[in-house]
Amino acid sequence: MKRRDFLKKVGIGTAAAAATTVVGAPAVIAQKKYQWKMVTTWPPKLPVLQDGCERLAKRIGELTDGRIQIQVFAAGELVPALESFQAVSDGTVEVGSGAAYYWAGKEPAVQWFSAVPFGMNAQGYAAWFHGGDGLKLWEETYAPFNLVPRPGGSTGVQMGGWFRKQINTIDDFKGLKMRIPGLGGKVVAKAGGTVVLTPGGEIFTNLERGVIDATEWVGPLHDLRLGLYKAAKYYYYPGWHEPGTYLEYFFNKKVFDSLPKDLQHIINAACMENELWVLSQFEAQNGAALQELINVHKVELVQFPAEVLQRLSKMAQEVNEEEAAKTPIAKKVNEAFKKFARVVGTWGTVSEKAYYNIIVPPFSLKG
Ligand code: CA
Repeated sequence: MKRRDFLKKVGIGTAAAAATTVVGAPAVIAQKKYQWKMVTTWPPKLPVLQDGCERLAKRIGELTDGRIQIQVFAAGELVPALESFQAVSDGTVEVGSGAAYYWAGKEPAVQWFSAVPFGMNAQGYAAWFHGGDGLKLWEETYAPFNLVPRPGGSTGVQMGGWFRKQINTIDDFKGLKMRIPGLGGKVVAKAGGTVVLTPGGEIFTNLERGVIDATEWVGPLHDLRLGLYKAAKYYYYPGWHEPGTYLEYFFNKKVFDSLPKDLQHIINAACMENELWVLSQFEAQNGAALQELINVHKVELVQFPAEVLQRLSKMAQEVNEEEAAKTPIAKKVNEAFKKFARVVGTWGTVSEKAYYNIIVPPFSLKG
């Protein structure tokens, strides 16, 4: 028998045998399984933030029936907090989570996808990402880093922070040592403050010892847990610097793009489900924590004076434009953000804002 004929016969024979076996049997195709690692910027067990990452990994496992299994590592467990972006970009690990403003040193444009002082709130951001061009621009910004971003839910409006001394005029920021990240930190620096970047784990000690005069962290839930009320007397609102900070999940682009389409759809759906879960947790738990701070710990809640906010707002616009001028993509993202914010802001003025003005707060803000 010639070699070609032999191969032909074997080929036909194999196909026939396979066909016989398959008849009447379930069509079982061995599906590829993926074992991934996820690195986050959050301390272990940090409520909502790290919990949310654990939840996402579990949901992707459930929804793919175990085809994608993700092991989650908190900050420092596999890579340091602020190296998760690079680790996923390099492909050392497949997934990461953080807040985009942490990566401002790599590309200024990223800051618009997490928090803009006096910018959009959680609702506005969700509208921008899912009803506007926000997510497309985010993908465009992350693509050169070999990353695919997905919105990871919002903290809602953050608190303005804890101050050892009262802020009565804009000049009270002069010489103030404050822990405040992102574009908001650049605004405080413009107002004459000294911005200190303190990791979450060291904030309380630094504030208590007077290494810093003021700090912001997240909101009532997380601030209560850190015990910040024991280190500073005045709790300011609102968080003008982080009006709806969005968190993020990011995937190695090469890994994501090579997935079967059904798995890509599942990941997108799981991220969107988690996005809602994160904001819902913040909204549900911040209210109760605020009541505890006021009623049990007798915290003095103070609103920033209107004139101070006006001055900060003006400085924020200058900071945004300065940052936007640094790269073409930052300019493009800033313009798109401003345009969208104007449209949703106009609607928000006659909807949300007008509504909030007519409802009575459910409890006194004074302790
Ligand atoms: Ca914050």
